[in-house]
This record gives sequence, C-alpha cells and structure tokens, in this order.
Amino acid sequence: MSEEAVYDLFVIGGGINGCGIARDAVGRGYSVALAEMKDFASGTSSAATKLIHGGLRYLEHYEFRLVREALMEREILWVMAPHIIWPMRFVLPFHKGGIRPAWLIRLGLFLYDHLGGRKLLPATRSLDMRRDPAGKPLKPLFTRAFEYSDGWVDDARMVVLNARDAADRGATILNRSKVTSARREQGAWTIEVKDTESGAIRQVRARMLVNAAGPWVDQVLAGAVGKNNVHNVRLVQGSHIVVRRKFDDPRAYFFQNPDNRIIFAIPYENDFTLIGTTDRDYTDDPRNVKISEEETTYLCRAASEYFAEPVRPEDIVWSYSGVRPLFDDGASKAQEATRDYVLKVEGGSGEAPLLNVFGGKLTTYRRLAEHALEKIGETIGAKGPAWTAKSSLPGGDFAATGYEVEVRKLSSAYTFLAEKHARRLVRLYGTKASALLGNAKTAADLGRHFGSDLYECEVRWLMEKEWARHAEDVLWRRTKRGLYLSPEEAAALENYMTTSTASSAA
Ligand SMILES: Cc1cc2nc3c(=O)[nH]c(=O)nc-3n(C[C@H](O)[C@H](O)[C@H](O)COP(=O)(O)OP(=O)(O)OC[C@H]3O[C@@H](n4cnc5c(N)ncnc54)[C@H](O)[C@@H]3O)c2cc1C
Repeated sequence: MSEEAVYDLFVIGGGINGCGIARDAVGRGYSVALAEMKDFASGTSSAATKLIHGGLRYLEHYEFRLVREALMEREILWVMAPHIIWPMRFVLPFHKGGIRPAWLIRLGLFLYDHLGGRKLLPATRSLDMRRDPAGKPLKPLFTRAFEYSDGWVDDARMVVLNARDAADRGATILNRSKVTSARREQGAWTIEVKDTESGAIRQVRARMLVNAAGPWVDQVLAGAVGKNNVHNVRLVQGSHIVVRRKFDDPRAYFFQNPDNRIIFAIPYENDFTLIGTTDRDYTDDPRNVKISEEETTYLCRAASEYFAEPVRPEDIVWSYSGVRPLFDDGASKAQEATRDYVLKVEGGSGEAPLLNVFGGKLTTYRRLAEHALEKIGETIGAKGPAWTAKSSLPGGDFAATGYEVEVRKLSSAYTFLAEKHARRLVRLYGTKASALLGNAKTAADLGRHFGSDLYECEVRWLMEKEWARHAEDVLWRRTKRGLYLSPEEAAALENYMTTSTASSAA
C-alpha cells in the first residue's frame, strides 16, 4: 500500500458487503483500498444459513422490495459463481391444524415463484409425503408438503473470491489490518491502520470512506471516527448446529415452529446436516458470539418435532454463531426487524464523505454494492457503469449447470484423484482447480498430507492466492476440512502455516 497516494475509496470491513463494494468500485475505475481486521468473512459472512434466497418468510412482514430484489439475484449469482452457488429444492411439510393454513403457504409460494427473475429454477409443486422419499425421515403426521426452489452458497468463499477479484483488478486488499482511527483532514480522510499481528501502524489517505464493518459498524463510528450517540444497528444473534447426516435426500427442509419462527435442515458437506437458525437480541462484543445452551436445546427440540429420529445435543459435531447487523427500525421482536439494507452518506460540502452500510444479506450483496456505487458516484464523481451482473467470480467461468462436466475434466486430467476429492476441488475452486494442482502426476506430488484430503499444494494456494495465514482460515473458511481433521492434525497445519515462508496474496 502506498502511503502517499490518495485512494478514491477506503473500505473498512472484509465481509461480503465490504468486499463486494471494493470489487465493484475497482472494476469501474476507482482506486480502492480495503482493510479487514481479522480474516475475510471472519465476522457474520461465514456464519449464515448460506441460502441465496428471496426470503419466503419476509413476505409475512411485507418486505416486497427486498424479496423481489433477492429473488432476482438468485440466478444472477448462480451464473456468476456456479462452483460455490447452486440451486436447492426446499421441502416445506405441513399438517392440518398447523401454524399456517395451506392456502396461505400456497399463496406465499405463488408470489415467490412470480415476483421476479425465475428462468432456470423449477417452480413450486405439491408433494404427497406418504409416497415421496422426502417423507421418509419425517414423522408420519406430515402427509403433505410443498417443494420450492432457492439457492445455496459457500458464504465464506463468496467473500474471499470477491476480495481476490478486487485485488486482481488493482485494489489494495489487506487482512489482519484494523482501522483504529479515521480523521477528516484537508477535504480527505487520514486513516490509521494497525497490523494486528506485527503491531505496525500506517497511515493512508482517501477521498471517501466506506464503513462496511457489519456488526461493528456503530463501533467504528463511535471509536475510529469519533462520533457521539451512535445507534444504528440492532444486533441479532443466530446460531446453527451441525449433526451427522439425518437424511439421504438432496433436498433441504423448511420447518415451521409453534413460536412462528422457522428453521432449516440442510444437506451439508456430504456427510452432515446443518440445522438453524435462532433469532435473539445480542448486546456483547460480536467477536464473542457463541451458541448458548438454550439455543442448542431450542434447535434440537424444533428439529425433533419433524424428524422421526430425534436430534439430541450429543449428536452435534459442530456449531457456529453469528450476529446479524440489522438496521434498527424499532421492531418489537428480533425476528421482525427489517432484513433490508440502508445506505447513508454523511459529510460533503468540503467535508470528506463517509458512506455507512447498515444491514443486508449475502443474497443482495451485489445489488447493495451497485446502490453504494450510485451514492459514491453522486458524491465523488461517477466512473464506469455497473458491470458485475454479467461477470464471473474467480473459477466461476463455466456454464451454470456445468459442474459435472468440470468434475469430469479435472478427473480425466488428474486420474490419480479420488472422485470425492475432485468434486470437492471443483466446488471450491471451479476452473482454477487445475492451476492449484499444477503438474501433479501422483498423490505424492500434492505435497505433505495434513489429514482428510487436504494436501500442501492446496494449503499453499490458499496462502498465496487467498490470504490464509492460520489453520482456522483454511479449515473453517476457505474449506470446511475442520469437520474432518483431528485437533492434532489442525495443530500440525497451524505450525506449518505459521513457520512457512509462503509469500502473501496481497
Ligand atoms: C445466523 C445468520 C444467518 C444468515 N443467513 C443468511 C442467509 O441464509 N442468506 C443470506 O443472504 N444472508 C444471511 N444472513 C445475513 C448475512 O450473513 C449478513 O447480512 C452478511 O454476512 C453481512 O455482511 P457484512 O459484510 O455486512 O458484515 P461482516 O461479514 O460481519 O463483515 C464486517 C467485517 O468488518 C470487519 N471489521 C470490523 N471493524 C473493523 C475495523 N475497525 N477495521 C477493519 N475491519 C473491521 C470485521 O472483522 C468483519 O469481518 C445471515 C446472518 C446470520 C447472522
């Protein structure tokens, strides 16, 4: 990072919104720098249910603008990154006397199918659960269901691929770099960035500041920017549990609970089922968020209302928790607070401008970035037009339905790869998988084996191209091999990564 240059934009936060804005902006010709205080997606953006969805449930809160925009984004994002995003069918079981009458669900799904943009995804249909395989793992009470379309995303990878693409287009992208202060000086911003590992501090200048710090957005305003009486976001915790695979069907379930909330049970990483989420107000530091015993009990109980075989706390192999940074619209219940995003510009007329990002969803990040760029253009002068709708994220330059073809290509080029391994590499890296494997002719050429199917060449790729510095970055964000490695194997990986001299991705 050049200390003298004045960037057009400085983005605080390497979650999906910060990385999405940085990528869009640099692609239009702005000079851009971004700082993330920990690892990319280490905040909320790796703790989601991971759906690319319109949000069926938001229809009940009349969030038509948000639902329509999100529905339209489903296929745009799928085409943009078919390795990490794919369609998923959801089974919504119900019974007579249930929480919502069948006609209401049918109406919601009719709107869902017709509100916007569905070209490739199949429409809703009714299921007779006594005959359909989806009925098999459930209690016999659920004789009927609707099946509808939404999408699935590897959330943490979507973030890092946005960061990668932004860097490839010329943005300065820094991880483990915390913004400690941002001052207005002579019509621009002077930003102090602290390397959280070495402690080194540097100053950067920028014409405009973007605060995309997610759950920390108010902390940045009150701390680094030094504003008084800051209260814009409502922090709402959501937790998930992961259990061994509860069912073989590739479809996910949408369960309605007696408290009017809903939870999902989703096929996860081949061998597991992901169950979540909860919704409760949160007041502690977002970094300390952790699933509570009460949430674990709630999720086990809610899923056990539906599955014939109950879900017990001892079945849980992993859990994670995150904090939604929702714009505080004064709603009484956490589950009713708006999921829409709000963008606010402060400053102007001689004062260096600041754009604050409140709320948002993974699904709408690309549109949020476009709206942010409209505001940035109005404030510091417009550059190139919107471009991301027809773009590919790194490795995603193949047909939306071409995953199997890519797997076959990789398997025939690297015949020693086990099929599962090839499938996993194409899911994570798409068309870049062959660059990652390079000239390997045998498994021995993949380098040191760290456990499961994780080898040195993948770890080095992640260190060199994707800014991974610690085992946790590799095991829980760039991949989910953490589900398979033992604590000893994870410690050996950490030791390898912190003592090896791989050049960083920056
Ligand atoms: C339980 C749950 C389930 C969800 N499910 C879905 C879903 O299925 N589909 C969907 O579309 N959306 C979902 N969401 C919403 C989505 O995950 C969030 O809206 C999105 O990830 C927010 O991204 P962000 O970039 O605003 O925040 P974050 O991802 O939190 O990023 C902010 C970043 O800023 C960094 N930062 C903070 N302060 C500083 C500083 N001073 N200097 C440098 N960096 C800093 C943080 O370290 C952090 O990485 C879910 C959210 C939750 C919590």
